[in-house]
Amino acid sequence: MKKITVLLLICLFSVPVLFAQKNKIAIAIHGGAGTIKKENMTPELEKSYHEILKLALDSGYLVLEKGGTSLDAIEVTIKILENSPLFNAGKGAVFANNGKNELDAAIMDGKTLKAGAVAGLTTIKNPIMAAKEVMLNSKHVLLTGEGAEVFAKKQGLQSVDPNYFHTDKRFEQLQKTKAAEQDTTGSIKVEKTDKYGTVGAVALDQYGNLAAGTSTGGMNNKKYGRVGDTPIIGAGTYANNETCAISCTGHGEFFIRAVVAYDISALMEYKNLSLKKASEKVVLEKLVKMGGEGGLIAIDKNGNVSLPFNSEGMYRGYKKANGELKTAIYKE
Ligand code: ASP
Repeated sequence: MKKITVLLLICLFSVPVLFAQKNKIAIAIHGGAGTIKKENMTPELEKSYHEILKLALDSGYLVLEKGGTSLDAIEVTIKILENSPLFNAGKGAVFANNGKNELDAAIMDGKTLKAGAVAGLTTIKNPIMAAKEVMLNSKHVLLTGEGAEVFAKKQGLQSVDPNYFHTDKRFEQLQKTKAAEQDTTGSIKVEKTDKYGTVGAVALDQYGNLAAGTSTGGMNNKKYGRVGDTPIIGAGTYANNETCAISCTGHGEFFIRAVVAYDISALMEYKNLSLKKASEKVVLEKLVKMGGEGGLIAIDKNGNVSLPFNSEGMYRGYKKANGELKTAIYKE
C-alpha cells in the first residue's frame, strides 16, 4: 500500500514537470555560413533552401513532439541535410585538394557529456550516424580515416562508393579554386561561399536534455587529411545540460583556436552570461578580432535559441513549442 502511494505521488509530481518541459522543446539548425548573397541566388534555389531547411526542422521537431530524445531529433534532422546536395555535408560535400571527399562529423549528449566524432570518412553515407555509433558503442570519442570506416561498417552503417559524394558543382568549385591559386593576374575570383556549408542541429527535448551535432565535408581545396573544427568537441560541437548546445560553421581553424563552442558554455557557467550574450560575444567580438568568419546555432535549457554569425549569411532556422518556425538565409 505504502509503495502504491509513493508511486502515485511520484506520478502526480512528474506529470506537471514533464508538461512544463514539453512546452520548452525546440530545435535549431544551420546549413553553413559564408558569403551568401541574394544577387548570386535564383528565386528557385532560394525556395529549395527554405524548403529543405523546413523539412529538416519539421522532421526533428516531430521526434521531439512524440517524446523522442534530443539526440534522436538531431540525428534525423542532420541526415536529411546530409542527403541533400545543397549543403557541404554528406552528398554535397566539398572536395579536398586531392580530388576526394573527406567527411567529418560529431555528436554530443548534454545529459551525460558523452561525445562521438569521426574524421576523414570517404565511404560512409551518413557521417553523423557514424559519430553517434562512436559515442554509443565504442570506448573512444574520435575515430579517423580507415579505422573509422571499418568501425562504422561493423556497426552496420550504409557505405557507398566514394563517387556518391561527387557533385559537379563542388568539383567545379575545386577546379576554380585551384586555378585561382595558379593565377598570377588575380582575375579568377573565388567566393568564400564556395568554402563553407557545413550542417548542424541542436535540440532540447521534453526530458530537459540538450544535444548537438555537426556534419561537414570540411573546406573546399583543403589539404587531404586536414581536420576542421566540426569533429573537435568543444570547438565546432558541444552540449551540456547545465548550459547550452552548440553547432558551428565557418573557417574551422579559427573555431579550433578560439575553442568556440566550449567558450560559450564556459561564459554561461562561470560568468553567468545569457545564451544570447555569450554566443554573440564569441561570434561577433572574439572571432571577429581573430579574423574568423562564420557562425553557429545555440540553444539553452529553457529552449532559448541564438543564431549569431559574422559572415554575409548563414542558412538557418528554428522551431519552438510555441509554434514559432523560422528559416532564413541572409542578414536581417
Ligand atoms: N567549419 C567547417 C570546417 O572548417 C567548414 C564549414 O563550416 O563549412 O571544416
